[in-house]
Amino acid sequence: METDRQNTGIIYSRVSSAEQVQGTSLAMQERLCKEYAEREGIRVLQIYVEEGESAKTANRTEFQKALAFCSDKKQRVDFFIVHKVDRFARNQADHHATRAVLKRYGTELRSVSEPISDDPVGKAMEGMLSVFAEFDNNVRSARSRSGMVEKVKRGEWVWAAPLGYKRLFKGGNLVIDDDVAPYIRELFEQYSNGTHTFRSLAQYLERRGMRTRKDRRPGMQLMEKILRNPIYYGLIKGLGLEVHGTFAPIIDESLFWKCQPSTRSRSRHNKRSKVNPTFPLKKFVSCTACGTTITASAPTGRKGVKYPYYHHQKQNCPLAAHIPKETFEQNFVEHLQEISPDAKYEKLFKAIVLDVWQSNYKKLDSDNARIRKEVEVLEGERQRVFDMHRTGVYSETEFKEQKTFINLKIQQKKLLLEEKRIEEFSMEEALDYCFSFVRQSAKTWLGLSDLPEHRIRFQKQVFPEKLTFDGKKLGTGKMSLVYAMNGTKDAEKTELVTPRGIEPRLTA
Ligand SMILES: [Zn+2]
Repeated sequence: METDRQNTGIIYSRVSSAEQVQGTSLAMQERLCKEYAEREGIRVLQIYVEEGESAKTANRTEFQKALAFCSDKKQRVDFFIVHKVDRFARNQADHHATRAVLKRYGTELRSVSEPISDDPVGKAMEGMLSVFAEFDNNVRSARSRSGMVEKVKRGEWVWAAPLGYKRLFKGGNLVIDDDVAPYIRELFEQYSNGTHTFRSLAQYLERRGMRTRKDRRPGMQLMEKILRNPIYYGLIKGLGLEVHGTFAPIIDESLFWKCQPSTRSRSRHNKRSKVNPTFPLKKFVSCTACGTTITASAPTGRKGVKYPYYHHQKQNCPLAAHIPKETFEQNFVEHLQEISPDAKYEKLFKAIVLDVWQSNYKKLDSDNARIRKEVEVLEGERQRVFDMHRTGVYSETEFKEQKTFINLKIQQKKLLLEEKRIEEFSMEEALDYCFSFVRQSAKTWLGLSDLPEHRIRFQKQVFPEKLTFDGKKLGTGKMSLVYAMNGTKDAEKTELVTPRGIEPRLTA
């Protein structure tokens, strides 16, 4: 099969935001990729480096160029080399789509620091790593969020200081900005008289000298924004919490309420976000009978109580019923529990992956050994330079020159070792970390109820395609590889992994 391979490849590198912090450089990625190519006997045709703005935007111009290059029939590109899988695509859907495209061009993805290849284990590994990259991101943001929650609970404001407040130092709590706060007080007092519109109020305050943070004249929108913000009487509202701040209020609560349109209407869901937090499974499941996507709504009943339902409308569909939100979501949780890999498969999977990884890792080890040898040789040479100087063979200038030259060479090699050490990727840790989520998918999903966007992203990671619903139970269309390892309890979908003695049969 390898006969028409010419072993050609391209290198693509991109810096991730985490690395910018850690200081892993593009240059280093590129060098490691080049070294990899050399080791594997791959001739590098092109190098693409995503830098600056284009790394952040979705376009990723260099990435597009790299793909175009692979698609060009004039040359054959066998390998698309990246430093890590997360360089390649930022989410799993993306990842698989791009991989499929590359495959059509006959190009294989290779990662320098992770064992991926087109054999079944490599494929499973790759699927896992792409899931892992995304989990990691989610967790990081959830963690920073939990830090924020703690602060809010202590009565601290964790966002940018609103007009009328300031911070004395970064990360500190709010203090009243005495230059602006009097305007805020006046704003509320004037408005509470009931004679002002937002526009006339803005004009009034402008005449009195009020300015925005950017030194602009206050507008009517700003008036509304300030009037509706409970922070001015000291209430922090956010992250699903309502906490009295430990900073001083600018007005008292009764004045705030005098300025609200109607204290009776308590509609809190005034803004409709793209993600529907009430119905995470909306448009995520389709009906097995008619194929229609299941949607959801919460009609208000006679006594003003909302009844949230999942449902779909289709004439003549026997399954077109209203299913209470709770029931439907409970169904989903059960389904998640059912498909999560059990301990037996987890152990097997880890063992296989670690095995593959370790054999790859040995290569890295032998590289390091080689470099260490080279350092030793150089150190021997340095000793000779000293000897030559002592015995008078080298003049003072020659000695200094030689010494500097050798020291520089040694330093470079040592730096290389150091960088390789930093690059060590603890596969065992990564596996544990990844499985800690996968193992408890149901728990993870339930725990994300206050982060609707992450919750939906999580769902999509586990189920790249829509689920099906037969009126009673949820079924699985297609699962991501880690989950598919386990197979499902539906007989026809177990072809991915079947235990055969000790070895699982992987036919991904
Ligand atoms: Zn239907």
